[in-house]
Amino acid sequence: MSTEANSSPTKKKSSGKTTQGSVSNPTTTQTLLSYGVNPYEPKKGEEYMSKAQLEHFRKLLNIWKKALLEGGDETIHDLKELAEVPADVSDQATLEETFALRLRARDREHKLINKIDESIKLIDNGEYGFCEECGIEIGIRRLEARPTATLCIDCKTLAEVREKQGR
Ligand SMILES: [Zn+2]
Repeated sequence: MSTEANSSPTKKKSSGKTTQGSVSNPTTTQTLLSYGVNPYEPKKGEEYMSKAQLEHFRKLLNIWKKALLEGGDETIHDLKELAEVPADVSDQATLEETFALRLRARDREHKLINKIDESIKLIDNGEYGFCEECGIEIGIRRLEARPTATLCIDCKTLAEVREKQGR
């Protein structure tokens, strides 16, 4: 099992290899595949969001959540370690920066975990996989890339455009 924290872009080890190229921003699909979950292949004529599909996504979401929680533990551990370092005044600034960065990363993780919980609730209610805006199927592949998606690609794109225009 790999315990690599691939969500910490600020982590730079001075011991060589910093040329990781495309690894810097792994997609969720890659992440999920690395957890040993294969893309879902629906059977012929299989209903969208069949029981099997819902279980597939429940599994994905649970594995993802578990990985995030484990990553979170690591962050807490790091923070403790940092706090124990006796720092002189000049180090204090970088220490605080590091704290802030870590805490922000943790905040993002917490939000993501909340979204994952919401998605699991949707599975329980049988509402998972449909766009909350227009009601169409979000699609298996899109959900595998982003299991917490609640909008279809069209509504998502629209929402992003609106956001860019400053509402
Ligand atoms: Zn939609």
